[in-house]
Amino acid sequence: MIQAKGIAAFSAKEPLGPYSFTRRDPKDHDVVIDIKYCGICHSDIHTVRSEWGEAAYPVVPGHEIAGIVRAVGPKVTKYKVGQHVGVGCMVDSCQECAHCEQDLENYCLKGFTGTYNAMERDGSAPTQGGYSNVIVVREEFVLNIPEALPLDKAAPLLCAGITLYSPLRHWKAGPGKKVAIMGLGGLGHMGVKIARAMGADVTVLSHSDRKKEDALRMGAHHFVSTHDGSAFEKYAGQFDLIINTVSADLNMGDYFGLLKLDGSLVVVGLPENPLSISPFPLVMMRRSYAGSLIGGIMETQEMLDFCAKHNIAPEIEIVPPTQVNEAYTRVIKSDVRYRFVIDMSKIA
Ligand SMILES: [Zn+2]
Ligand SMILES: [Zn+2]
Repeated sequence: MIQAKGIAAFSAKEPLGPYSFTRRDPKDHDVVIDIKYCGICHSDIHTVRSEWGEAAYPVVPGHEIAGIVRAVGPKVTKYKVGQHVGVGCMVDSCQECAHCEQDLENYCLKGFTGTYNAMERDGSAPTQGGYSNVIVVREEFVLNIPEALPLDKAAPLLCAGITLYSPLRHWKAGPGKKVAIMGLGGLGHMGVKIARAMGADVTVLSHSDRKKEDALRMGAHHFVSTHDGSAFEKYAGQFDLIINTVSADLNMGDYFGLLKLDGSLVVVGLPENPLSISPFPLVMMRRSYAGSLIGGIMETQEMLDFCAKHNIAPEIEIVPPTQVNEAYTRVIKSDVRYRFVIDMSKIA
């Protein structure tokens, strides 16, 4: 077995702390990765605090993993020692259902294997995530990180990046399309940069003017503050696509009204409470309300290559492993511009 050092949650209430555990020795198709950086995603916090159901402690969170190949199993063909690689939210899937066959492992009909707080498909061990110094993953779920992307900034692309890239692609953001991004946080700021690079006309919808300069600097063409409600009249019927990255409870009816005929509002953030929505504004203009969950492996690779080609990277703040608990407190207060990344090389 391979000795691993990590940062784990031991219960819903305690702070995270150091944890020693083991990773499997590489099988034929496994890649052993020295983790250099891991992003902090809000999902990590929801999971370790059992807000999405009781977690299986101890949990080593982290699914925005960037590192360097340490070793490969004898039958690995795609990766070699020293290569820059990443791992996102999935480490396995059934590989044979109708969705996996279409490269949509994220919608595997038997459920994909999460990078942490899940069980390996053979039941041998719980999966443990990227707040650690090493991980072993089958090669089909390893991504190549192009040399043009620095490893620290590449990390958040593995969840935040693909979470926005996939719906922008699916709903065809591009020239001639008006796209609005709700919320300028870890997810939203990636949406702005990617939608802009795809050629869409990009608007940020935000509850205050606080992030206006940042939004425009990141590539948004327009910034609309929704705080006094007048924007909902002024911009009614303007957008082809709105992506909601905000987890707060909002009156979605107001936002449906901003869509054109046949426009879609896509949710990628998960509010804690169910939404109550009126179908009237949907019915009136044949609008759609939809959801989207990360992306498949092939599309995730496409996103990494796209970001490298267009020089797109998240804006990050690097923290040492000893400051994960403080970082969590700040994520909850939205006090981060725009994503925390843990420097895993500093793990004690
Ligand atoms: Zn995530
Ligand atoms: Zn499947």
